[in-house]
Formats: sequence, C-alpha cells, structure tokens
Amino acid sequence: MADQCLFCRIASGEIPAKIVAEDATCIAIRDVNPQAPVHVLVIPRAHVASLNEVTSPALMADVLQMAREVAKQEGIAASGYRVVFNTNSDGGQSVIHLHAHVLGGRHMGWPPG
Ligand code: AMP
Repeated sequence: MADQCLFCRIASGEIPAKIVAEDATCIAIRDVNPQAPVHVLVIPRAHVASLNEVTSPALMADVLQMAREVAKQEGIAASGYRVVFNTNSDGGQSVIHLHAHVLGGRHMGWPPG
C-alpha cells in the first residue's frame, strides 16, 4: 500500500513537489490546487492513513511543529491561518496518507463548507 501512495512517493523524492520545509520526520509541500494564497501540506514521511490511525503523539507534535514553522516562514503567523486534517469521506480526505493543510493569506470563513 505505502509504495503506491502518492504522498509516500513525494516524501521519498520519487514524485517531484514544491518543497517548502523538510526534516527527518516530515515534509512540507505546496498544494497543487491551492485554496488560499498560502496552501501548504505537511506530510509525515511514515505512512499513516489518517488521524484515526495515528498511534504516536510525538508524530502529531512533529506535524504541528512544522505547520507552525511553515506559517512563520510564509509570513502568515501574525495575520492568522488555519490547520486542517481532513479525515475520511465526510471530512473530505482524498489522499489516504495523513497530512495537515496550512491555509492562510486571506480571511477564513466559518463554518467551513
Ligand atoms: P485531502 O483532500 O485533504 O486528502 O487533501 C489532499 C490534497 O493534496 C489536495 O488539496 C490536493 O490538491 C493535494 N494534492 C494532490 N496531489 C498533489 C501533488 N502531486 N502535489 C501537491 N499536492 C497535491
């Protein structure tokens, strides 16, 4: 499964992406279909299908730490941003590999669509 996974293949470098940050645990890339002026995906290198399958709190800490760093790097930390984990069908998850969307650069409406 993991060898077929789009985000595993991006994290390994097999499929190119616009990388904005990376470390031993995670990679952050620009979304190909941005929904805001800043739209970055933070992806753990290890294959975890969704938030439901996470077993390591440390993994979530790493993902959120990179999300926060990306927001600072992109200049949206002070103006504000949204971090979203779409999960399974009703959550709108289309790539079955855990990822955080970091969205900013415009005002975010509530409730989300
Ligand atoms: P989700 O729908 O929450 O699973 O989010 C998956 C996201 O991945 C979508 O916002 C897509 O636009 C994005 N995406 C799909 N393929 C790629 C790719 N090759 N590089 C960057 N982002 C992608």
